[in-house]
Amino acid sequence: MKTISHWIGGKPVEGVSGNYGPVYNPATGAQEKQVAFASAEEVDAAVRAAKEAFKEWGTSSLAKRTSVLFRYRELIDAHRDEIAQLITAEHGKVHSDALGEVARGLEIVELACGIPEKLKGELSTQVSTRVDVAAIRQSLGVVAGITPFNFPAMVPMWMFPLAVACGNTFVLKPSEKVPSAAFKLAELAAEAGLPDGVLNIVNGDKVAVDAILEHPDIAAVSFVGSTPIAKYIHTTGTANGKRVQALGGAKNHMLVLPDADLDLAADSAINAAYGSAGERCMAISVVVAVGDTADPLIGKIKERADKLRIGPGDDPASEMGPLITKVHRDKVASYVTGAAAQGADVVIDGTGYTVEGYEDGHWIGVSLLDNVTPEMDAYRDEIFGPVLSVVRVETYEQAIELMNNSPWGNGTAIFTRDGGAARRFQLEVEAGMVGVNVPIPVPVGYHSFGGWKDSLFGDHHIYGNDGVHFYTRGKVVTTRWPDPSDGGINLGFPSNH
Ligand code: NAD
Repeated sequence: MKTISHWIGGKPVEGVSGNYGPVYNPATGAQEKQVAFASAEEVDAAVRAAKEAFKEWGTSSLAKRTSVLFRYRELIDAHRDEIAQLITAEHGKVHSDALGEVARGLEIVELACGIPEKLKGELSTQVSTRVDVAAIRQSLGVVAGITPFNFPAMVPMWMFPLAVACGNTFVLKPSEKVPSAAFKLAELAAEAGLPDGVLNIVNGDKVAVDAILEHPDIAAVSFVGSTPIAKYIHTTGTANGKRVQALGGAKNHMLVLPDADLDLAADSAINAAYGSAGERCMAISVVVAVGDTADPLIGKIKERADKLRIGPGDDPASEMGPLITKVHRDKVASYVTGAAAQGADVVIDGTGYTVEGYEDGHWIGVSLLDNVTPEMDAYRDEIFGPVLSVVRVETYEQAIELMNNSPWGNGTAIFTRDGGAARRFQLEVEAGMVGVNVPIPVPVGYHSFGGWKDSLFGDHHIYGNDGVHFYTRGKVVTTRWPDPSDGGINLGFPSNH
């Protein structure tokens, strides 16, 4: 069985802790690989390699950093297909979807190629006689990233390309369920000329995460994952003096007003609820249907959902793949049966679905629940599977109240032809990313990604300008080149003149 090791100091490093975790192919249900689980000592080895590499990388020229990043961009582009195959084999998502996440991750490498523009700083001349002030941003040192299973390549690429472009060195702890894509990204970074130790990977579980959170030489931690772990990472990391950005889970609502184009709304609901089997933090899991939109909209969603092709991610005919684990599949199914018991109408029941020839895969079909209410578990919890709930309300005001009562605030969308209503929604909704007739409003790389409330702990969104700020710290330099007439004793507080 193939073993995925760590990547430390520019090369693969076998695990020495003796602990391994299983890596499954979700379509077959078979364990095809194992991944080394790092001990605190192995995390320390990675941090030491990163600390050593920082001595040169931290002071390397912008030209050197960007020349590596431009080569890296080309190498990822050339290996898109291979990276996507690794994603599909461990995560289960269909190949086209995996290619999509590689493309969105590559956007951040492209942003990082332009880092000189972002690090230009500010200069004020002659703030006082012969005195200039420069504001510069400098790297932090060794920074770390901890990533979830649902985007094995994209979420790591949200972090390390920008971090290293800013002059930091990096220790990544990918999800233990999907370790191969990140490993490939590290190999390609080395091929692009990234010096040894600038990017390191430690695989593992809570032991590795806690070692990162407690390590005195790690200055900052970026985390993406579920809300309870995000809270834990933020609390523990900041208590240990680190800068932390921790992106959590979500329960994204899509508001459909009576004047919306219902065909567009139905297409969008299908794509956003069932794409990647609902395992996206920006997935739509609740449609809020205003007035009399619910019946025709549900009819259109059902008509489309019944035609979806569910199967192995490496079959080009498949539109949706399996879920990540059997345990997760059973948990998702329990929300569908639970909703029925709590009074929801099950319009489509995806539980019990299987694929011929792949009977041991982690399959579930798509589910559509109507007349869901805020008290039901299917509404309250992040299901993270292909289950779409419809909540019926009478007015826009009821809809916005419902949505803003949600503890999460990641993405949201409004479907309407009314510009005034859309504008009002943009200003009133409590969420970090808003779509107007766009169901999955993931910002492009040169903006920043982040939610509100329980969807993000910390002050910075990820990538874009917020990412640059997160991975650098400010310094202000006040300079005077003295004239012979300067000098003299003055014990007063320095004033500008
Ligand atoms: P998770 O929180 O279980 O795991 C995320 C990372 O934390 C993994 O690397 C894992 O090894 C580690 N981890 C897990 N349990 C831990 C513990 N007890 N102590 C320390 N570390 C621990 O999340 P997941 O299941 O891998 O990913 C799905 C979740 O991520 C969903 O909630 C989804 O909404 C969220 N997500 C959020 C975003 C976003 O941008 N807000 C993006 C993608 C995924």
